[in-house]
Amino acid sequence: MISEKNRPGSWHTYRRLLGYAKPYRWLMLAAAVGMMVEASAAGYFTSLMKPMVDETFVARNPDVRVTLPLIILGLFFLRGIATFCSDLGMARTGQGIVRDLQVTLFDKFLRLPSKRYDSEPVAKLLSRLNYDTTQMAAAITEALKVMITDTLTILVMLGIMLYQSFTVTVVMLVVGPAIALISSYVSRRYRRINRNIQEAVARTSQASMESLSGQQEVKVYGAQTQELARFRDLSRGSLRLSMKMETTRGAASSLVQLLGAFALALILFAAGMDAATGKMSAGGFVVIMTSMMVMLPSLKRITNVQGPLQRGISSAERLFALLDEPNEADTGTRSLERARGEIEFRAVSVTYEGQNEPAVRDVSFTARPGTVTAIVGRSGGGKTTLARLLPRFYEPSSGAVLLDGEPLTAYRLADLRRQIAMVGQRVMLFDDTVAANIAYGMSEADSGRIWQAAEAANATEFIDRLPQGMETRIGENGSLLSGGQRQRLAIARAILKDAPVLILDEATAALDNESERLVQEALNRLIPDRTTLVIAHRLSTIEHADQVLVMDDGRLVEQGTHAELLARDGAYARLHRLQFRDNPTG
Ligand code: ADP
Ligand code: MG
Repeated sequence: MISEKNRPGSWHTYRRLLGYAKPYRWLMLAAAVGMMVEASAAGYFTSLMKPMVDETFVARNPDVRVTLPLIILGLFFLRGIATFCSDLGMARTGQGIVRDLQVTLFDKFLRLPSKRYDSEPVAKLLSRLNYDTTQMAAAITEALKVMITDTLTILVMLGIMLYQSFTVTVVMLVVGPAIALISSYVSRRYRRINRNIQEAVARTSQASMESLSGQQEVKVYGAQTQELARFRDLSRGSLRLSMKMETTRGAASSLVQLLGAFALALILFAAGMDAATGKMSAGGFVVIMTSMMVMLPSLKRITNVQGPLQRGISSAERLFALLDEPNEADTGTRSLERARGEIEFRAVSVTYEGQNEPAVRDVSFTARPGTVTAIVGRSGGGKTTLARLLPRFYEPSSGAVLLDGEPLTAYRLADLRRQIAMVGQRVMLFDDTVAANIAYGMSEADSGRIWQAAEAANATEFIDRLPQGMETRIGENGSLLSGGQRQRLAIARAILKDAPVLILDEATAALDNESERLVQEALNRLIPDRTTLVIAHRLSTIEHADQVLVMDDGRLVEQGTHAELLARDGAYARLHRLQFRDNPTG
């Protein structure tokens, strides 16, 4: 504990942990009472040694022959209950703290900015959620239990010893620690000498190995006698070292034994004095010795409690550091019921954290409300990055994105995001019913509207064939559904959300022709009357777009309608020829 004081933040961590323990204070109190009973029972049992020896054996008193065993039985029954209560109380407290922390952390994870997930993989964050919290609670409840139970045990045992004999106790308390100190010094010193000796032995054998590896030289120069003499010296040296090692070991263990005997002699002498004056009986002496024996493991645990405690505190510090990380910036104050859907990018550049090159460079364009803007270009050109700026998953490094003439940062984050529906290549589905997946994030959605949305998304065709229709659970991440079916659920979700801004990021890229046709039909019903940014590879989508943006290496290299860009015969025309060759049905 003392060494902890100079660590900055440690005290702060304790205080914060206490905050988490607070809801469980009554449970912890009950556990503490249990521990007190445990320690008292141990103390009482130890004191029972006295009548056990003095009455049962020395005086052969018939009265205690039955009562004493009964008392012991009762005592252990009580102690059992106390142990059960304290263990259960501490376990429940630990589990409760783990659960509370996990909920707080999960809430935090949902508020961390997207870029935070680039710096640490989800698996790592999850292991903090599951592993670190459990570790922390286990270490801390363990430490608490040791601190309370063992402190109490030591105090109780000391009390009993003092009650039996002041002198003997004082002798024990002076001699005991002194012996512990001396023997730990001796064994430390022994270990150090031992290490030195082992190094010397290793050097010796190294030297002899050298002379054998050089045996050809030894023979050519006729140096056998010389080498033998050298080896004799070396092995004599190593013999001497080994003996020194053995001597040290022997001396060390003899010394420790001697010290033990010395202590025992002193204790016995003091006890003998007390016995001579009638102050101590045989039973009293047994009580003192037993108390000492019971106390030793407690003392040992108390001195080692630093380890688990420190582990727990370190875990807690890591978790608290995570909890203290900044949330997604949400400083906007403007509320927004329903946007008209005018989007403007003004000289936007984006550089991802830890990257040297910007992923988007100085891009400017405007999308009028209700129009379709197709974004095309080679992979890695920055298309997805552009789209991610609208829901503010990432922030531009320079420039600004505006919605209805106001910078995105001016709006409240939740209001802004309510204006946007997204369908990407990967569709997130949750382990719930089809209906719940379509109405995801909606607090109220009647089944009629869900059905309409599914219908418009071409999804009823397969939902009808599911065993419980809309109420079928679709399994973990929708594992029962095909790619096209998942897309259509995502589209139904977007239709139900009915947001003025729609982002489609390669929504049909991973589909076969048949699913693509169904999905495309659904998209065609979703797109009208919304400002749509569609990152597309499919020709028909692009042909009908109000404007086409061609991205290359983060730059907006061309902008215009399909026809205009074809006529220009530049980057778009080249891309179009490639596309047409690869995908003639497009
Ligand atoms: P596109 O969608 O056109 O294929 P992206 O916008 O996904 O292109 O990527 C543009 C560039 O930014 C690429 O070089 C890509 O490696 C990089 N990039 C994309 N996402 C991240 C990220 N989260 N962290 C760092 N770099 C990224
Ligand atoms: Mg992309």
